[in-house]
Order: sequence, then C-alpha cells, then structure tokens
Amino acid sequence: MTPPAHVIVGAGAAGMMAALTAAERGVPVLVLDAADAVGGSLNISSGQLSAAGTLLQRRRGIVDSPDAHYADIMRISENTADPTLVRLAVDNAARTLDWPTENGMEFMPDHPVEGFAHEPYTVARYYWGPDFGRSILQILRKAFDAQVTAGRITLSLNTKLIGLVMSGRRVTAVTATAPDGERTYPASSVLLATGGYNANPELFHELSGRPAYGANSYPYNTGGGLEAARRAGAALRGHENYLSSFGVVMDRPGLGAKLEFRHIHHPQDRPPWEIYVNTEGRRFVAEDEPSVNAREHALLDQPELRRYVVFDARVLRESPPMISGRTNHELRDLFDVHPMFTSAPTLDGLAAKTGLPAPALAETVAEYNTTLDSGRPDPFGRRHRPTRIDEGPFYAIRVQGASVTSTVGLAVDSDLRVLDATGEPFTNLSAAGELLGSGQLMGKSFCGGMMATPALTLGLLYGEGLSAHA
Ligand SMILES: Cc1cc2nc3c(=O)[nH]c(=O)nc-3n(C[C@H](O)[C@H](O)[C@H](O)COP(=O)(O)OP(=O)(O)OC[C@H]3O[C@@H](n4cnc5c(N)ncnc54)[C@H](O)[C@@H]3O)c2cc1C
Repeated sequence: MTPPAHVIVGAGAAGMMAALTAAERGVPVLVLDAADAVGGSLNISSGQLSAAGTLLQRRRGIVDSPDAHYADIMRISENTADPTLVRLAVDNAARTLDWPTENGMEFMPDHPVEGFAHEPYTVARYYWGPDFGRSILQILRKAFDAQVTAGRITLSLNTKLIGLVMSGRRVTAVTATAPDGERTYPASSVLLATGGYNANPELFHELSGRPAYGANSYPYNTGGGLEAARRAGAALRGHENYLSSFGVVMDRPGLGAKLEFRHIHHPQDRPPWEIYVNTEGRRFVAEDEPSVNAREHALLDQPELRRYVVFDARVLRESPPMISGRTNHELRDLFDVHPMFTSAPTLDGLAAKTGLPAPALAETVAEYNTTLDSGRPDPFGRRHRPTRIDEGPFYAIRVQGASVTSTVGLAVDSDLRVLDATGEPFTNLSAAGELLGSGQLMGKSFCGGMMATPALTLGLLYGEGLSAHA
C-alpha cells in the first residue's frame, strides 16, 4: 500500500508555487494535474501582477506599502473583497514578485505602472512581462522542474481529480482518473489548487448567475476541485460579487464564443466618438466615463451584458482607430462579413440587421444629436462629443461583457483550511488560487494583478506552512 502523501491537486500558479516551496524546504509532495503540461492559466493569462514594497519599486524610488495596497483594493472593491484573504495576499506579495525578479524575470521596461485597464492604483505597483503569464511561468517552471528531477516533487499529469475520501473532518485520500485508469492516492494533506470553473458552462451559470458568454479560460478548469470540496461539505463564498468586463468583440454570437477583437473603450487611450447602446437601443453610461469600474458596473445592469458601439460614416473616416490593432479603414472589410460588425445605409436598416428596436435607436441617436447641437450637457455626463452621428452609412459593432475568472470560491480560514457550512475547518484540506474565487480576492471589482499574484502568494504561504508542520 502506498504511504500517504502531501497531495497538491492542480499545477497552475498556486499549485506549482506551493509544491516548489514545500519541496525546496525538504518536504516531498505529489502533484496531480488534469492537463498534459504544468502552468494552468499562466499559459494563457495576461499575467499582470501587483505587489507593494518590491525590489523593482525600490530600484525606481517608488515608496509603497502593503497597507496602501490593501487600502486601494478595499477602496476599488468598495469593501466587497474578503479582508482576511486580501491582507494575506498583499502582505506577502512583495516576496512573490522579488523571487522571479532576482531569478531573471524580464518585466516591461517602464514597469511598475499604476495601470488603467483596471481601476488605477494610487501608486505604481502593477507589472508584467513581455510574454505575459508565460514570463513568470518560465521562471517558475525552471525551479519546479529542478525539484521534479530531484525527486521531491512527484508529478502526475493527465490525472483528473474525481473526489475526496473523507473520514470525519479529515481527507484520507483523493481519487482521480490517471492515464492507467482510476486511482486512489492516500493523502496526509490535500491542497486543492484547481483554478476556476469557467470552462464548465453549466457550473458557471449556476454559480455566477449569468451565462458563460466567453470561452477564453483554461480549458481544464471545469471546477473539479470546487465540486469535490462541495460534495465533502465545503462552503462557497462570493456569489454576490459577479462582475463582467466592459466587453470585447467575440468571434461569433452565442455561448462558447471566443474573444477576437478588442474595442478600445478606455477614454485614456482614445476618447470615444461613438455612442454605446444596450439591446434596447438605449444609452446607459457616459461613453467617456473615466472609471472602468463605473463602466463595468453600468454594463452589469444591461440585458445580456451586451452593448453596441454605434457610429456613422464620419466617425469611421475621421476618428482614431477604435479596434485594437486595426485601422478604421481596415474595419470596412469586416462590416456585414463578420457577424459582430454590421452596417446599413440608414439607422432603421441598422436596427433591422442588428435586431435593435428601430424607434428606440432612432430616438437615442436623435437625442444625442440635438443635445449636442443645443450645447446642453449630456444626460449621462459625457464630455467628449466631437461630432453628430448623422452621415450614412451607419455602423454597429456588437461588444460582449464576459469574465475570464470565476467569481465564486471555497471558503477558507486564514491558514487556507477549507471551511464547512458551519464555519469549521477541515483538518487537512486546504485551497488556494482562483479556486477561492474573484468574489473573495477582488470583491465586486477587478483589481490589477489580484488573481495571478494571490494565486502565487497563497501557494507560497501554503508551502511554507506545510514545511513548518512537517
Ligand atoms: C485570459 C486570461 C487573462 C488573465 N489575466 C490576468 C491578469 O492579467 N492578472 C491576474 O491577476 N489574473 C489574470 N488572470 C487570472 C489568473 O491568471 C488566474 O486566476 C491564476 O493564474 C489562477 O491560478 P491557479 O493556480 O489558481 O489556477 P490555474 O493556474 O488555472 O491552475 C489550475 C490547474 O488545475 C488543473 N485542474 C483543473 N481541474 C482539475 C481536476 N479536476 N483535476 C486535476 N487538475 C485539475 C488545471 O489543469 C490547471 O493546471 C487571467 C486569466 C485568463 C484566463
């Protein structure tokens, strides 16, 4: 009979960092992953990280502290993030980032920055590498592989968790489908680090309360760890904090679509010339609202998390590029060829083709034009209004709000032990990373770097804890 092992399920940011930390301190671990390679979401993630009090900041004379980072997250999330987990993550984030820095990770030359793709921080503490998530994965994998070679990490790929074998409040084993069939792995401790559930549309709908509009997450992240813990009695948190991005242009309509184009909606990059309407043909936000958080929250109230970017021939001709990586001239080839790009000689025609209600769309555009002509303030407070929208043909680009991270996650205590519905911890069952859910780590907001960095940091803390107890 195999002796019980310290089992880590999931070899993404959290699982790899946990395994590496434990192994480097002399504690052998068994790592199981459903995929055929390690790295999880870091393989596809933007890998934007945030940490305060780092070596990189000191080198640039930036004064920062975990307290200031914590205060920013609670401000941005309007206190909806989990204070205990955010504290744990930010208090130890500098260590997370200094390690790859010292080990040769390349960062973008002007980093750290405050960032504006998510609500800006008050201090420049936001960093990423030229190869995004893979920049940090490269450093992590080198150290991880060395421990696999040294025999302190036993790695089993293509091994998918099925369930947890419990004895009271203790996990005694995990069951999984491995390449050689179904197997039981006796466990002295288990860390679940299986990431989110975005690749499981049914679970996404159940937990996030919205359809899974985009399919841009790691395909192995189907919520296996969350389901196994839930069957064992674990409590979930974060339902109330679902938030979607302000939207991207998908490759096609319908669920399961993938991101194809990015509409440039940050007024800091490009003040908008167009108007945005919802599926009812109505505007719902100042298109130049500087706070991305405010724009995201406004979209959350719109049907199907969808907006149409509506404009005319003059805007197409005269405005700066509105789709990332394409000139407006190049966009002409997409209209009426790509399902998300529509044009018509008249507004009524545009409504007919997009399915927008014609009277509402006409009224919305007319109101925008007359308010502009009269010099009256825009009812939504928009300030940048360079031109009327009245020169046919008219255009609409369909933009879909979606989220690449999972909102709901396992409830844990400050030692990352999984909690049951009564708030009591399981003895030797822990969780880290996206499995805790964005609803806990960032609340009802997106805070720069606050998924990948906590995944690494909480993995690090788990590995340290494991070695301290071993
Ligand atoms: C497109 C995209 C862009 C992103 N950009 C950013 C960003 O810029 N900044 C940021 O902070 N965050 C970002 N994120 C989120 C961030 O990358 C992740 O939250 C983080 O990497 C998750 O780490 P993790 O270790 O918890 O999970 P993962 O890295 O996803 O690892 C989970 C691992 O578990 C394995 N697994 C899953 N189910 C099972 C099972 N049943 N049995 C065994 N193994 C299983 C998977 O194969 C995977 O290897 C982004 C995510 C995506 C998809």
